[in-house]
Amino acid sequence: MGTPKKTLLVFLPTRSGVDGARSIHADAGGSAPSRWFDRPLRRLIRKSPFAIPPLSLMILSSIRVEGVSQSVCDLRFEPFPGDTRWDLVGISVQTGTASEAYELADRLRSGGTRVALGGPHVTMFPEASARHADLIVRGEADDLWREVLTDLRNGTLRKEYVQQELPDLSIPRPVHKELFDPGRYFTTNLIQTGRGCPHNCDFCNVHVLNGHRLRQRPIEDVVREVERFRLHDRRIFFFVDDSLNADPGYAEALFRRITPLGITWFGQATTTLGMQPRLLETFARSGCRALLVGIESVEPESRRAHSKNQSRSDELIGSIRNIRNAGISLYGSFIYGLDGDTLDTPPAILDFIDRTGLDVPGVNILRPTPGTRLFERLRREGRLLFDPDDPSAFRYTFGQEMLYRPKQIPLDRFIESYAALTSAIFTVPASLKRALAAPSAKTAVGIFNLFYTHLYGLSRHDLFRQAEEFREKTILPSGE
Ligand code: SF4
Repeated sequence: MGTPKKTLLVFLPTRSGVDGARSIHADAGGSAPSRWFDRPLRRLIRKSPFAIPPLSLMILSSIRVEGVSQSVCDLRFEPFPGDTRWDLVGISVQTGTASEAYELADRLRSGGTRVALGGPHVTMFPEASARHADLIVRGEADDLWREVLTDLRNGTLRKEYVQQELPDLSIPRPVHKELFDPGRYFTTNLIQTGRGCPHNCDFCNVHVLNGHRLRQRPIEDVVREVERFRLHDRRIFFFVDDSLNADPGYAEALFRRITPLGITWFGQATTTLGMQPRLLETFARSGCRALLVGIESVEPESRRAHSKNQSRSDELIGSIRNIRNAGISLYGSFIYGLDGDTLDTPPAILDFIDRTGLDVPGVNILRPTPGTRLFERLRREGRLLFDPDDPSAFRYTFGQEMLYRPKQIPLDRFIESYAALTSAIFTVPASLKRALAAPSAKTAVGIFNLFYTHLYGLSRHDLFRQAEEFREKTILPSGE
């Protein structure tokens, strides 16, 4: 066999939000003191729980094909290694970073480097993506990437690799993480136990991309992975599944096996966990210290309008109290701007946070993600604020930009009320109070709240600026 083919997998940072606290306006330098404050904070945020390796690249870089070597480049931490001649560069494309991914792909291809594009955006928008690539990978790439690497070695690359059936996760596919420098990340212990979601929320693309049927990995494989991972990194584990309690029988069996390993872990679950006492106890005993739960809305009308019906509002408060009483801190994620929301919603959210004692509240603006039912509906209703045929315009920010018109609240009133809501929730004293009251992971709770105090400040700054721009373009009536 000749010289091994060299491949590189690339991950791009988002412009703002989870990959750094900065304004989305390039010219918004801010005052000297705020710049002085921002820079170290941005570095700190990179070391925060957000800065974790991209799981998709961990999975793909674990595929071994004889005659092909794989490297990874996380552009959040390093420049593109342009001094190496790559036989193929694979770029993971999220909708929020599609423009940047296309720019990089075009630049590489004009220099003679072959580029493969894959990821959620490519799966949903293959035609647009194909214009920037030598080949595209559509769908979950667990098996397709092996085909790509084999074809690269054999000189038989095709233009398109399409997943026909969702990969069967009961087949063992060990994940390796040696290519990721632990020093860069808060932890490298990311574990996925399965994919798919049986629910149908219209703003979410998980069920669109990964299907409605839960596909789970064999418990034995997951346990072995945890054992192997902790040999090289003794820090916290993240179970990245969207809903760890979706199949209570599986979760119970898995976390009973995890308990003797003595790890501590964070994950995501639905609030139903508070009504599953046996599983809740098993989670707590197996080392669970914090969970993210999607509350989304305290308004029954909004939950109905967006098909978020898996738990009733009146059960939520009791469930949250039960989970916290079991010693697990909760990050509760709300969405403001759903179709049933009115100007009475922010006080209701504040009241809900007070009554439940949520440790880290996150209040997001509804984000129409291209490819979701919500996006198509808003397009039909003429409520999108950017060109719907340019999906890359719908980037990810940390609540810094309105992408659509709320149904029941005028745009400028919405921005004002959202700003007032985040100002009321995120203050330094409130952050410290929540940290002290948290049932566990007090330091992480304090850090999150303090970061959010800063990040929501940026959100307000950018939203007010957007409102000003809208006013100038007369999208908003002046004086409103
Ligand atoms: S928001 Fe959560 S529960 Fe709803 S479809 Fe998405 S992953 Fe499932």
